[in-house]
Amino acid sequence: MKRLLKFDYYEPASLEDAVRILAAADGGASVLAGGTDLVVDMKTGRLQPSTVVNLKGIPKLAGIDAADDATRIGALTRVTEVELSELVQSRHPALAQAASILASPPVRGLATIGGNVGRASPASDLGPALIVHDARVAIIGTEGAREELVEKLYVAPGVTSLAQSDIITHFTLPLQPPGFGSAYVKLGKRGSGTDIALAGVAASVLADGDGEIVDCRIALASLGPTPFRAVGTETLLRSKRATQALLATAAENASHEAMPIDDMRASAFYREKLARVLTDRALRGALASAGVEVAA
Ligand SMILES: Cc1cc2nc3c(=O)[nH]c(=O)nc-3n(C[C@H](O)[C@H](O)[C@H](O)COP(=O)(O)OP(=O)(O)OC[C@H]3O[C@@H](n4cnc5c(N)ncnc54)[C@H](O)[C@@H]3O)c2cc1C
Repeated sequence: MKRLLKFDYYEPASLEDAVRILAAADGGASVLAGGTDLVVDMKTGRLQPSTVVNLKGIPKLAGIDAADDATRIGALTRVTEVELSELVQSRHPALAQAASILASPPVRGLATIGGNVGRASPASDLGPALIVHDARVAIIGTEGAREELVEKLYVAPGVTSLAQSDIITHFTLPLQPPGFGSAYVKLGKRGSGTDIALAGVAASVLADGDGEIVDCRIALASLGPTPFRAVGTETLLRSKRATQALLATAAENASHEAMPIDDMRASAFYREKLARVLTDRALRGALASAGVEVAA
């Protein structure tokens, strides 16, 4: 690892000041949240910002709040807090599960939800879980505040649509009706599930009283250049009753939608097999959380 190059460091007390400093920076600027990715990226030389803006002094960027129709999670909320939140566990199970198997407890105690999405790693655990909950990301920049779907933020490995002066302020997860369930599963290299995903799958389903899948979402991690939805598999599942045969077909289909690569952690061939197995498990988890029994 290289040594850190010199950079200007700021701890603004307001979002307006933070945006102004980021916008004025020549030679690249980065926002600092927990630093678990940024410091590594700066040491390896992947990022060499001339300006680093620490968000920790800005009030109201952390915390989880319940509204009647949505859950609001601040960008600076630590992964541990997401993992342990009873509100997230009950309303957004896939997100709580993803948080509980992201890295190790010391990393989870520093890492933030905004940093996980801001880093845009293809292996992000929280990204797919947010996507299957239809989460929106709120951003503030020089043009003011805006919102978009989390899935629209991802552009390429390590690249988001955020401008240099954009800051993620929070995420909004709509409250889902009865019959909704979700789950996240992954496999890491050590098999413990707490290291970077060789592959990960988040799934959500909305089922009616007869066990028919009214709607569903499937999002994949480490199976493409960014976290992304397996939309063909979602279409295949909609308006069908959950049966063993349907799940097998869906899992197979998701493995064809996956776009895995060979890297030092796993081969594309192995990842494609994982896509099938993990999609099956994620769908079963989501159906169980929705209270749906899979018919024979
Ligand atoms: C040992 C180790 C194991 C890990 N294992 C996993 C794993 O299993 N799963 C996984 O998903 N990740 C893993 N990670 C990656 C990392 O911990 C997470 O991505 C973490 O959530 C990043 O959050 P952070 O607050 O530390 O972000 P930072 O490092 O502070 O920032 C990361 C990036 O996001 C940008 N950013 C941060 N906050 C914002 C914001 N509010 N608005 C705009 N941009 C922002 C930064 O500028 C930077 O580019 C691991 C990291 C380590 C060191």
